[in-house]
Amino acid sequence: LRVRFLELLAEHGVEPHRVGVATTSCFGACGLAGGPAANYLLVRPEKILYRVTSEADLLDILQDHVLQGRVVTRLQVQEEPIALEFLERYGDVAFFNRQSRIALRNAGVVDPESLDEYLGFDGFKALATALERRDPDWVISELTKARLRGRGGGGFLTATKWTLARKQADTTRFIICNGDEGDPGAFMDRSMLESDPFNIVEGMIIGGFAIGAQKGFFYIRAEYPLAIKRIEQAIAACRAQGLLGRDIMGSGFDFDLEIRLGAGAFVCGEETALIRSIEGERGQPKVRPPYPTDRGLWGHPTVINNVETFANVSAILRYGGDWYSRIGTEKSGGTKVFALAGKVRHTGLVEVPLGTTLSRVVNDIGGGVSGGKQLKAIQTGGPAGGFIPAAMQGMEVDFEPLQKAGSIMGSGGMIVLSEDDCMVDIAKFYMAFSQEESCGKCTPCREGTTRILEILERITLGKGELADLDKLERLSRLCQRTSLCGLGRAAPNPVLSSLKHFRSEFLAHIQDKH
Ligand code: SF4
Repeated sequence: LRVRFLELLAEHGVEPHRVGVATTSCFGACGLAGGPAANYLLVRPEKILYRVTSEADLLDILQDHVLQGRVVTRLQVQEEPIALEFLERYGDVAFFNRQSRIALRNAGVVDPESLDEYLGFDGFKALATALERRDPDWVISELTKARLRGRGGGGFLTATKWTLARKQADTTRFIICNGDEGDPGAFMDRSMLESDPFNIVEGMIIGGFAIGAQKGFFYIRAEYPLAIKRIEQAIAACRAQGLLGRDIMGSGFDFDLEIRLGAGAFVCGEETALIRSIEGERGQPKVRPPYPTDRGLWGHPTVINNVETFANVSAILRYGGDWYSRIGTEKSGGTKVFALAGKVRHTGLVEVPLGTTLSRVVNDIGGGVSGGKQLKAIQTGGPAGGFIPAAMQGMEVDFEPLQKAGSIMGSGGMIVLSEDDCMVDIAKFYMAFSQEESCGKCTPCREGTTRILEILERITLGKGELADLDKLERLSRLCQRTSLCGLGRAAPNPVLSSLKHFRSEFLAHIQDKH
């Protein structure tokens, strides 16, 4: 798109620098922009952001905006009643100005295909500082101060994980970025990889330097072609500029990156399954210990972090761990990105300090339940998350409170449910997903999810019995306690939390036979 637009400018004798065109990517405002798959064109200096789908759109922008100075309103990213010249008035939009964007700070603003532009946004300064100091311990100490916890859902302290790998006697070490995002409705990783790829690459190089790795892998699901293309371009540009490969920035540190594609199995997001997948084996989890930091990829110490974790690293080194830790809660520093979806007015990516209440995310940023309906529940954490009833919307979002409430942080899915939603149907939907994605290696998960799903199907067909509720609970607890990996252990969460908070809806199905 950008290339074609530049060609059109040349054909009409317009100097490109007079206009300054950048292609941007998803900036996480699905509700405003019409979905994450759109193409965007940013025309400077006015900073008007257009959504473009055809060459005719480009011609209109050229004729009206560039040559005649009139904004092409039909293509402008906007939503009534908020008339916004998007980026110029970025701060006037509640969806954005109530967020605290660190991981997403460049999303939709920087040209993701231009290393020069990323450098103009202070890109690779954090890496330069780390390499100049020649001190991996400094990197880890800043992360320790920051209290950055793994954003893939586990919530393990990143500095602790990096230290565990760094301390190993085996000096062949690997670092992996887990971009195998598979939760229904979640697209945080995709957006970050597409919109700010150099930032993720920088985070990985810094991680490699901190743990003493020589090689890193991006593991990205194959269904994300644009994310893969952008990371490929970023890696190639970094190699060409001496930011990857031998003797990075003259520091003596050798490190390179490769991409591996995930073939769509949800369980490959689990660390040990992901490692096996990269090794070319069937992607199935293994018993832990040993943990990947002891014996991971090809038996060597390996750190796996998710995309969002790496997205925070350069900002932490630039502004300091103390700065980062002032955002968030006592246990968890910084922000968390959520994919806000479901029955909410403004859907999209929302980044807020950890400890922000659910109500603020859903009502103040998301604009409340769509269609004037009542909020019934909020589901966090993807298919294995639980339901938080509307009465608990004042709770703070953090790893421990969510777990206590029967849900999980997961990688950041957040689905809003209204009074129109049947909680038994929704629990069945998620159980069907987990059952389908169970790798079948262990009996509690393979058989447990199948039997739980059968009971839920019976109940929703009006053929359930009261005794089914006890069976559901017992099977769910068994699956939770005895499954081998996180998929099976967390899969019953939607069932248990709906039984706990919305038992009356199960009873209605059973007693009214519908
Ligand atoms: Fe496979 Fe489920 Fe067992 Fe995990 S818990 S290893 S997904 S069968």
